[in-house]
Amino acid sequence: MTIKKIVEQGLCVGCGACISESCSDDSRMQWNSDGFLEANLIYSTNSESLEFDRVCPFSLNNDETLNEDHLAKEFLTTSVLADNEIGLYNNLYAGYSTKYRETSSSGGLATYIFERLLRDKYVDHLFVVSEIDGKYGYKIFSSIDDIQQISKTRYFPVTLSSLFDIIDDIDGKIAISGVACFVKSIRLKQHFYPTLKEKIPFLVGIICGGLKSKHYTDFLAQSSGCVTEYMVPEYRVKNNSSIALDYQFSCIETESKRYHSVDMKSLGDMWGTGLFKSKACDFCDDVATELADISLGDAWIKPYKEDGAGNNIIISRSKLADELLQNGIALKELKLDRIDLSEIKLSQQGSFNHRHKGLYYRVNKARKAGIQIPQKRSRFLIKQNITNDLVQLVRSLTRQQSLVLWKKHTGLSFFNNKMKPYLFVLHKITKLNHILTRLYKIVGVKL
Ligand SMILES: Cc1cc2nc3c(=O)[nH]c(=O)nc-3n(C[C@H](O)[C@H](O)[C@H](O)COP(=O)(O)OP(=O)(O)OC[C@H]3O[C@@H](n4cnc5c(N)ncnc54)[C@H](O)[C@@H]3O)c2cc1C
Ligand code: SF4
Ligand code: SF4
Repeated sequence: MTIKKIVEQGLCVGCGACISESCSDDSRMQWNSDGFLEANLIYSTNSESLEFDRVCPFSLNNDETLNEDHLAKEFLTTSVLADNEIGLYNNLYAGYSTKYRETSSSGGLATYIFERLLRDKYVDHLFVVSEIDGKYGYKIFSSIDDIQQISKTRYFPVTLSSLFDIIDDIDGKIAISGVACFVKSIRLKQHFYPTLKEKIPFLVGIICGGLKSKHYTDFLAQSSGCVTEYMVPEYRVKNNSSIALDYQFSCIETESKRYHSVDMKSLGDMWGTGLFKSKACDFCDDVATELADISLGDAWIKPYKEDGAGNNIIISRSKLADELLQNGIALKELKLDRIDLSEIKLSQQGSFNHRHKGLYYRVNKARKAGIQIPQKRSRFLIKQNITNDLVQLVRSLTRQQSLVLWKKHTGLSFFNNKMKPYLFVLHKITKLNHILTRLYKIVGVKL
């Protein structure tokens, strides 16, 4: 019953791939009390339950031939370069789409690539995250006229589960967007069902720093002053005349139709602290969405981060991705600069530090507590110094507490007050770790 174990241990990210393996119509995704979607599988036989696990990005089967390195070799056959941290690739850029930047979360590259895939008939449909009745979820799009509806990042749990219900009935090819674990589950499905390789010829990878609980959106809405029901939460309302980090969250109060917003800066660090994050993400070592045809993230590096209008970092990993980018540059639809590997890494430094450097500590701690963890790539399992371990410990307590405290439903100020000591200690210990790491480097101590 390995899927059951994955879910029980809090390692389900809600992709829904296992649901499509199940013979029972009663198997479905459901919300858990922490605000995440998780699999609820109904088994008819014991052998069936073992099969489900093979398409799970957090499979406990420990089959090394199905890790990111092996799957990348199987699917990204036109990549010519390789890096231990970002995977196989061809070219690296930073920049934006002249048409979609303004209405997108970052530089609008995702919307641009999807538009070209549809317009140039590489695919007939898109399966992407969009608004559904004021909330968010995956949906099929087949018309270019609707393209702007697919823009914008939604930090809200979504699932691919409906994809595999409809895919056999859909004529034509489909392009899909997804964070790394979702992309991995699609690659696993393609590995086991090779006809899906042709059916899904292109994957847009969204570089991901962690899956947030749906309670995160409630926290943001309440922080913006909206205490009753709300709709259309917007996570990245940009300020073109400021810097990229200066953006707001907004939502609309359902009954009064009043607009509420809050400066994200005023809420402190929402990502480095692990607030409202899924436990599974602490065991994910794919920072750069290594299995997608193209990976897109935010350009948190100079000079791009000084520009509030937004810029992407772009990692192209397939021939078609390169062609789309080159055409876009030639047609002046894309404004892109080539950047170095070191700049790509710098733009995701926090994520690399947490996901790779902190992995050894977290995996060891979990194993000692009797939690079965999927096999991780050994090059990321390197022992770090004690202050780094302390950061991991306090961060994981902060993550856990944020989920536990929000469930008590005693209001925003109760939550903020109770979280204060955790965030204070985390801030101090992280600062100390940065100072010591710099000092070790100066005196030449190898960590
Ligand atoms: C949960 C999450 C965490 C992220 N963490 C980081 C990070 O740590 N570092 C970083 O550089 N970038 C991160 N991003 C990516 C970043 O916020 C932008 O989404 C990305 O740069 C693309 O911007 P864009 O302007 O090209 O996208 P747009 O043109 O605005 O299009 C947005 C695209 O994202 C897709 N999308 C929206 N929400 C989701 C979702 N929940 N799951 C899958 N696809 C979705 C839409 O389908 C659409 O294709 C994260 C995104 C998500 C969803
Ligand atoms: S396949 Fe996806 S939905 Fe199923 S257990 Fe794994 S992560 Fe969860
Ligand atoms: S951090 Fe990894 S496991 Fe978590 S949502 Fe992002 S890609 Fe999935």
